[in-house]
Amino acid sequence: MRKNLNVGEIMTANIITCDLNDSIVSVAKKMAEHKIGFIVVVSNGKPVGVMSEGDLIREVLSKELDPKKVKAKQIYKSPVITISPNKSLLDASKLMAKNNIRRLIVMDKGKMVGVISSRDILQYAPYLIEILTERLHAERGEELIASYESQLVGICEVCGKWSDSLKLKNGLFVCEECYLSPSQTS
Ligand SMILES: [Zn+2]
Repeated sequence: MRKNLNVGEIMTANIITCDLNDSIVSVAKKMAEHKIGFIVVVSNGKPVGVMSEGDLIREVLSKELDPKKVKAKQIYKSPVITISPNKSLLDASKLMAKNNIRRLIVMDKGKMVGVISSRDILQYAPYLIEILTERLHAERGEELIASYESQLVGICEVCGKWSDSLKLKNGLFVCEECYLSPSQTS
């Protein structure tokens, strides 16, 4: 078995997306149609968040909300944690474990090119199971980004603009510009 596969070689290039304003019913139908349990939420073609079937259960069904009335933007998870296609499967595994997630969005030069799941990794590199199942108890913080060179992608929580390099500032994920500008909140 080759042990030096990278993310780009095993990722799924087919990405299923929904719009911020799509209802949860249409999201669920899309998941069923494509036999997937995960969807990327986009705005103007750019990724702003993700949702899994578990999110639909936890945030909509178990709260007895009407899935026709709830929109993707009300329950999606952001920011999007991304990885570059040339990173190793070990890097991807660590990033998933640290964030306690099972999928990463693969982005190359600002463009979304695929999705990689822990299942994909285990299929090609079963020896990474110990890392994938480890709970690293990371806080919502930017040491993750620094240590594994991931990028956080989504909407700036201050100015509302899309950014492919969100940073944590005063507990908010903000774009480069807001990160550098003198804080209005502190
Ligand atoms: Zn901003």
